[in-house]
Amino acid sequence: MPDDATNTPDPGHAAKIDPSAPLPETMRAWVLGGPEELSLQEKPLPRPGKAEVLVRVDAVAICATDLEILKYGTPALIEGGPPFHKNFTPGHEYMGTVAALGPGVDEFAVGDRVTVEIHAGCGQCKRCRMGMYTSCHNYGKNYGDQNKGHRANGFTTDGGFAEYAVNNINTLIPVPDTMSDEEATLVVTAGTSMYGLTELGGLVAGESVVVIGPGAIGLLAVAVAKALGAAPVILVGTRESRNAIGRKLGADHVIDARNEDVVARVKELTGNGADYVVDCAGTETTVNQSVHMTNRGGRICLAAFPKSAVSFDLGALAVNNIYLYGIRGEGKSATHRAMAFMQAGRFDASQIHTHTFPLEDLPEALRYARDRVDDAIKVVVSTRPGLAGGAKAR
Ligand SMILES: [Zn+2]
Ligand SMILES: [Zn+2]
Repeated sequence: MPDDATNTPDPGHAAKIDPSAPLPETMRAWVLGGPEELSLQEKPLPRPGKAEVLVRVDAVAICATDLEILKYGTPALIEGGPPFHKNFTPGHEYMGTVAALGPGVDEFAVGDRVTVEIHAGCGQCKRCRMGMYTSCHNYGKNYGDQNKGHRANGFTTDGGFAEYAVNNINTLIPVPDTMSDEEATLVVTAGTSMYGLTELGGLVAGESVVVIGPGAIGLLAVAVAKALGAAPVILVGTRESRNAIGRKLGADHVIDARNEDVVARVKELTGNGADYVVDCAGTETTVNQSVHMTNRGGRICLAAFPKSAVSFDLGALAVNNIYLYGIRGEGKSATHRAMAFMQAGRFDASQIHTHTFPLEDLPEALRYARDRVDDAIKVVVSTRPGLAGGAKAR
């Protein structure tokens, strides 16, 4: 794959913010009306409160969950209900530049490049106290009398399909100058993959890891598992173009689920079955494959949200002492560990970035992501005119 303009970090393009320059009063932001109804509007510039900063959004990646929110509303939750007709701005995988500080904030400075994780937990419930802030008991309770301090930008509070957003300082990760805007938007995806492996036990060096489903989270789960020393790393997928990227990101073996007996092949490659399985598809087929390919005493992470009940071989799970873990989001500061790997060049997350569009072309960018036009995986929207380069050369 040749290098190209959208893939080559250019520290010089980080347009500096002058702390003494006044901020605008309003900003452009995409606002959700009814299902699938987005319009670009002028909104007042949000103001950062205690422990918050204002982020000038420079780039934002589109996630499958964004497509789900636009269509069904869930898992977004605004004022206790669906996000439609509530002046809500979606978008949660963004990065940018700190533009203003809330009262008392000295952890960051105006001009710092940052990327964000989604969830700022309330910090006071049982799960937040355990570092499981993505499972905060006060999720969505951040309005009026119910304000518990919880934010999940793009889900329960305004997100990043806009020129500016407010973020709790706990959701910010510094971005090195050598990293492109587009790559920095992928930290939260890599962080989700990292969180899955964290919950599985984390110490996967020398252990076999199977990842099912080469979507964005699955492909980066391959990369993170490899960086953590897992061996072998096996990817199961049906699209050859995606499987090829999996090989570049570190998969030792790729199984084409259309043409091979997935469980038999995993057993052949691992001997007794996989020590760890990360199921990023969550279908009845893949959940049952997961159970049957896992070594006795092994662990399965379910990193997908099936929309309806899934029936699977619970008996095989129990009799083989297999552990099953659900994960939600990117808890326990996993994004910071993912950034450490990305900063050190342990894997090239930008392999999954395929297209960039300007902010005003969000509907077209969403179409690319939804319909996988031109083999799209991660489609990024940029607020920086001249930097949005259309399709990345592949
Ligand atoms: Zn996402
Ligand atoms: Zn909480």
